[in-house]
Amino acid sequence: MANYLTLALSKGRIYKETLPLLKAAGIEPIDDPETSRKLILATTQPDVRLIIVRASDVPTYVEYGGADMGIAGKDVLLEHPNAELYEPVDLEIAQCKLMTAGRENDTSRTGRLKVATKFVESTRRFYADQGTQVDIIKLYGSMELAPLVGLADRIVDVVDTGNTLRANGLVPMEHIADISSRLVVNKASMKMKHARIQQFIDNIRGAIKANRSS
Ligand code: AMP
Repeated sequence: MANYLTLALSKGRIYKETLPLLKAAGIEPIDDPETSRKLILATTQPDVRLIIVRASDVPTYVEYGGADMGIAGKDVLLEHPNAELYEPVDLEIAQCKLMTAGRENDTSRTGRLKVATKFVESTRRFYADQGTQVDIIKLYGSMELAPLVGLADRIVDVVDTGNTLRANGLVPMEHIADISSRLVVNKASMKMKHARIQQFIDNIRGAIKANRSS
């Protein structure tokens, strides 16, 4: 990790919504990951760098010290329930809900509910807490398709406007969790680089507060 502060995050929604917070904290990337193929991005603070990883890999990079800090959706963190991480800040960005969904008038089912999802851990816990036995089918994307072709009775997915569900003839059903992006911190880094990380956290908290009142 040299003497850098390394922050892991993913391209797309999280990156776009994190940029203004980083900017307010005085950190601007020198390259744009949407156009550059670089996976390590220098920033306007010479000792701070960003690494671009898959959203679902952020907890792994941070837990094992490939990055000091990371930004990950709560949906991703819930899939890593045993990760040894600090989660000090709710960034209040990329907000959505983790929900079950299915076909509107789905009454024809007999037997155990089949649930397709990439959120296997959250799904398992949700139905276990209800005492409902289900068969979970792991998918990696396009979950909305599963009920339409008879692969599953329900899906568990993140829902923002609900447009994706509606466009595929599905309706949201049960609320599982409120989702937003979180700052996560490697436990050893928190000790070894405490002053710099605490300063970063304070700056980010200030930016979130400003965001809230704007
Ligand atoms: P929507 O049609 O607005 O309900 O958005 C639903 C789709 O957008 C989901 O299937 C996700 O793939 C994606 N999505 C929406 N919000 C988020 C978020 N905060 N984090 C990750 N993916 C999201």
